[in-house]
Amino acid sequence: MALRRILHYPDPLLSQESAPVEYIDEQITSLVADMVDTMYAAPGVGLAAPQVGVLKRVIIIDCGSKDEPELIRAVNPQIVERDGECSEEEGCLSVPGYYASVKRSSWVKVRYQDMQGHWVERECEGLLAIAFQHEIDHLDGKLFVDRLSSLKKSMFRKKYKRILEQQKEQL
Ligand code: ZN
Repeated sequence: MALRRILHYPDPLLSQESAPVEYIDEQITSLVADMVDTMYAAPGVGLAAPQVGVLKRVIIIDCGSKDEPELIRAVNPQIVERDGECSEEEGCLSVPGYYASVKRSSWVKVRYQDMQGHWVERECEGLLAIAFQHEIDHLDGKLFVDRLSSLKKSMFRKKYKRILEQQKEQL
């Protein structure tokens, strides 16, 4: 197990579509183990494989608490039903230092394969529903900032440029 480097916007890999996983082989299990280490070390509540530079449809999520972690490892996840609307502030390990409210479905039914390859269906709401939508977006090459209005997105670009410059000064 090892930590992997998290790519930051505007890395071009973050805007590419990821390929379905055909076999959950050793390469995938060690990728997932590394992703778990990387997410907890960051720390974050979710991570998608393209964020560590691997264009495969794999995500992990943990919306539990420190005392009661609830790690979800999802291969080939998809949203099969959605309902309601919500708008919560989101952040992303690939867009450090920037947060914004994003419109999402408040309830989703997701389908994914667990690490044994079995298909699982799960209904989620609240933070978990948002996390699934956010992470599955990554697999389609979409970041939460891509879901902002064009005005908000141009404000984001200006602000993010300053964030990057500040980070460079700190190095
Ligand atoms: Zn993200």
